[in-house]
Amino acid sequence: MSKKLPVLGIIGGGQLGSMLCEAAGKINVKTVVFSDDKESPAKNFCNRFIYSKYDDLNIIKKFSNLVDLVTFEFENIPYEILNLISKDKNVIPDPKINQILQNRKKEKSFLNKIGIKTTNWALIESKEDILKNVNLLPGILKTCTLGYDGKGQRVINNIDDIKSDWCFSEEYILEKKVDLKKEISVIITRYANGNFSIYEPIENVHKEQILQNSKIPAIISKEILEQSQTNAKTIVEKLNYIGTMCIEYFINEKNELLLNEVAPRVHNSGHLTINAFNISQFENHIRAVCNLKKIDLNKNSNAEMINILGHDIENYRNKSFKSNEFFYDYLKKEIKNKRKMGHLTILKN
Ligand code: ADP
Ligand code: MG
Repeated sequence: MSKKLPVLGIIGGGQLGSMLCEAAGKINVKTVVFSDDKESPAKNFCNRFIYSKYDDLNIIKKFSNLVDLVTFEFENIPYEILNLISKDKNVIPDPKINQILQNRKKEKSFLNKIGIKTTNWALIESKEDILKNVNLLPGILKTCTLGYDGKGQRVINNIDDIKSDWCFSEEYILEKKVDLKKEISVIITRYANGNFSIYEPIENVHKEQILQNSKIPAIISKEILEQSQTNAKTIVEKLNYIGTMCIEYFINEKNELLLNEVAPRVHNSGHLTINAFNISQFENHIRAVCNLKKIDLNKNSNAEMINILGHDIENYRNKSFKSNEFFYDYLKKEIKNKRKMGHLTILKN
């Protein structure tokens, strides 16, 4: 007899939520999306859509009653909310893991403690803290929480860049600026029984801190390839993590592998897994959190993914595509400069 499939709650209704819903639909898992944006793209892909601010306890209760378990598309959901839901229903990945990984200080401390090399960094709470860490300049000052696509980051080349009106109202980290040779990411999905699916490293190009394109294979040495995957396995095991996770790395001019950040969720750099593999990062996530069978990964093809930002989407909407090109329109209501509006994946030999 086949197992009864759970109804999956997903917090967040952006493009990642949409792609999770599509992957769930493919294997007959029903989805309920809870989003604080009335016009969420995922509205078009889920079975049921609930709109509310994330702190409305009555609606959270309603959402929780409709589903068997809950996952999320982004890590910046307040811990209290996830923790509250977890009193009623399983929240996977575990909100406690989120609490570590949504804070750059906690994230980097954890990684360094388990022996994984990151960029050199220091906790910054005042101007004096920067002056104590001038060895980290030129550096990047990042807010500990709530940053994405470069938001919450400032480059500091020298102490003159520290403006007198900065009030240091929250915690920051200062990170040494890395001479980047390359950036790669590794996507891994861990299942509840400890098995995992791991994708080959993906090579990423960022412009103004926003991902522009991703491709496989990444042109890297065998040592870096193995180290990047070994680290990924260590991290998911140490955290007893369930679901898909993305690990972003820098490779510096000395060919050292430095971990940049860990995303406890599906990731933009993994969009090419939809077309290039038999099982995408999204389907793997759904299978892992719903405790369904893991299917061995098979690569169909090499691939490149191009992010479509802002008004560029209008050109793509009028284009015709070849049979090896896959265009995704996130159906966002409003076009904004630099906003991720869609992507194109090109399969290559
Ligand atoms: P976000 O949370 O916005 O993704 P990241 O820390 O990953 O923040 O930074 C976004 C991008 O900015 C990186 O992928 C990289 O291209 C660049 N960047 C961030 N930190 C550094 C650094 N210390 N040295 C060099 N480049 C960096
Ligand atoms: Mg990043």
